[in-house]
Amino acid sequence: MTRISISISVDFEPDCPPYLSSTFRGIERGAPALLRLFGDSNVRATYFTTGEVAEKYPEAVRALIAGGHELGCHGVTHTAFDTLAEHDARWEIERSSDILRAFAPVDSFRAPYLRFPEPYVALLEQNGFTTDSSLAKYKRSFYRTRQPTTVTRIPASMTSSVLRLPRAIRNPWLLSLSDPVVLFVHPWEFVDLTHEKLRYDCRFRTGAFALQALGEVIALFRERDAEFLTIRELAARERAA
Ligand SMILES: [Zn+2]
Repeated sequence: MTRISISISVDFEPDCPPYLSSTFRGIERGAPALLRLFGDSNVRATYFTTGEVAEKYPEAVRALIAGGHELGCHGVTHTAFDTLAEHDARWEIERSSDILRAFAPVDSFRAPYLRFPEPYVALLEQNGFTTDSSLAKYKRSFYRTRQPTTVTRIPASMTSSVLRLPRAIRNPWLLSLSDPVVLFVHPWEFVDLTHEKLRYDCRFRTGAFALQALGEVIALFRERDAEFLTIRELAARERAA
């Protein structure tokens, strides 16, 4: 049996966009706890970071790089690309690349809300990106025809709130995900937002429960001898195959 691969990614962004998005409790309080969990469990993750977060919290970006994690790009303002004209889409990608590449090499991209019009993939090629993780296997758009591109597509396997379901790790769905498994979380999920006026799936079991659940998911895949890779590593392997 071939060894399963898993990549854990973090969308490093304001709190629960578009509902809160003017606060950054996730970056301030969730991110340090998340970094400790990754350190303790020996996981290197990929952080898709907005330009806005990197400008406001450069120390948080330096901390994730120092932890051995991959810095990826999540646009500047966390605006859905399917609402942007090409001129503005280009600005989001160029500006965020400039901000983030001042910290570390960046070659992986993920669009906010996993919504990225196919014609904009060319903007990634033009801006030196080799990998895109904006597709989601659980969305209907995953099955639309795609244009040929030099950019390697690494789709997300499932949405983040599933990991916060009670007994997520006993959910057979988690174990039946096809290889490679690409999970994502947000720093604001590790802050208690249960009393906020938010859509239920954004706030339920946030805070300590979410951190514990993610730790259990990591342990579950470790037990199965899964190989933990960054998005960059997964993409490199796919290109070599
Ligand atoms: Zn996001």
